[in-house]
Amino acid sequence: MVKETKLYDILGVSPGASEQELKKAYKTGALKFHPDKNAHNPAAEEKFKEISHAYEILSDSNKRQVYDQYGEAGLEGGAGGGGGMAAEDLFAQFFGGGGGFGGMFGGGGGGMPQRGPQKAKTIFHTHHVSLEDIYRGKISKLALQRSIICPKCEGRGGKEGSVKKCGGCDGQGVKAMMRQMGPMIQRFQTICPDCNGEGEIFKDKDRCKQCTGKKTIVDRKVLHVHVDRGVKSGTKVEFRGEGDQAPGIVAGDVVFQIEQKPHPRFTRREDDLLYHAEIELVTALAGGTIYVEHLDERWLAVEILPGEAIAPTTDAVKMIRGQGMPSHRHHDFGNMYIQFAVKFPEKNWTQDPAAFDALRQILPSPSLVNVPPATAVTDPVDLEDADAHSTGFAGGSGDPMEEDEDGHAGGERVQCASQ
Ligand SMILES: [Zn+2]
Ligand SMILES: [Zn+2]
Repeated sequence: MVKETKLYDILGVSPGASEQELKKAYKTGALKFHPDKNAHNPAAEEKFKEISHAYEILSDSNKRQVYDQYGEAGLEGGAGGGGGMAAEDLFAQFFGGGGGFGGMFGGGGGGMPQRGPQKAKTIFHTHHVSLEDIYRGKISKLALQRSIICPKCEGRGGKEGSVKKCGGCDGQGVKAMMRQMGPMIQRFQTICPDCNGEGEIFKDKDRCKQCTGKKTIVDRKVLHVHVDRGVKSGTKVEFRGEGDQAPGIVAGDVVFQIEQKPHPRFTRREDDLLYHAEIELVTALAGGTIYVEHLDERWLAVEILPGEAIAPTTDAVKMIRGQGMPSHRHHDFGNMYIQFAVKFPEKNWTQDPAAFDALRQILPSPSLVNVPPATAVTDPVDLEDADAHSTGFAGGSGDPMEEDEDGHAGGERVQCASQ
């Protein structure tokens, strides 16, 4: 249980979200609301900061733990509660904004994410594929939306030589602001509204027509993802440098994680397949053919031999050698395991008394093990249909303490249970 979900709500994820889901949510939100793409839109800028703040906390396992336990109140002071810093720092990490972040007012915060080499964030995508596709292997063509450096202005945003340093922020891209919080005056940074954090401005007539001064444009790229025969769920396929581009930083990567979709007929276990087959009692006893639709066009005809006497128990699992998944590493196939469920005839399946006599003749005689001693008194009773509710087997009715057969007081049971 988490104390509050506000930060998760901002990112649009559940409190159980994985690191990868958080990253994806931040990436999506930051690209959508980041100030470069929302010129003169204070609402988007505010949203961008909220998303950044939420991600900055939730992506740090220590801070996330504190937040989950105590909520935002628990983070005050320790984790740079202002929020402004985190937004700019992340902004710089993701989009390569001007230098000097963090150092200017950076006292106290602690746990600030370290900036590595400036590289655009990896675009991560889970590629769900069917078991059939993994069995046969395929090449998926996946279209990707990414930012690329504007080819017209080569990422300058405007006519060459027409760039001017922004006067509003002296080319820094950020401005220092003050805010009263209770008895304290807090200093924080905000993205310069004059230049949208770029640190430089163009006259309207010099602005690049293709990217309208944003320096990047949205590009569609088709990537060919090889789904190898027998590939394991969770395998990652990486495309280095095919992700987002931004001026002054290394292009990001694209990573696809192959995940197998659940299959209606088979469960995969490594290179083996597990199949559940329902057969009639007569087939289990007298034999017959069952058909299994495989993952290619084939149907397997499985012969059940007369007298095989397949039992409806979990240990009655049979194997068909070599009919599992193609092995990714070795050049052979796993096995197919079949677990049987034996379907009994409906009640009153026949009215013919001769049929029962015939069965008694055919089937092995019952081996009665639970026979009372000769001296015992036997009491003939009737067997009726019972519904689960009246017996209490379905739960709900009946207090277990009242059913204590040994006549102990209920309290004693409670004690036992708590030891
Ligand atoms: Zn351009
Ligand atoms: Zn500026």
